[in-house]
Amino acid sequence: MKIGFDDMEWILCPICKNKTRIKIREDTRLSNFPLYCPKCKQECLIEINKFKITIIKEPDAKTQSR
Ligand SMILES: [Zn+2]
Repeated sequence: MKIGFDDMEWILCPICKNKTRIKIREDTRLSNFPLYCPKCKQECLIEINKFKITIIKEPDAKTQSR
């Protein structure tokens, strides 16, 4: 199976839905990937499997500890 550049997709930020600067392929698999969004300047932990993005941990707006 051959995968060309057309089969790549930009990762969309799960928070603001803007394109990030990271591309994935259909066979890209990431787990616990810290996705940084240049638009909302937030970082969240995601998991990627076959273009499906799952949020593991969303960034906290405010400090939760204490
Ligand atoms: Zn964002």
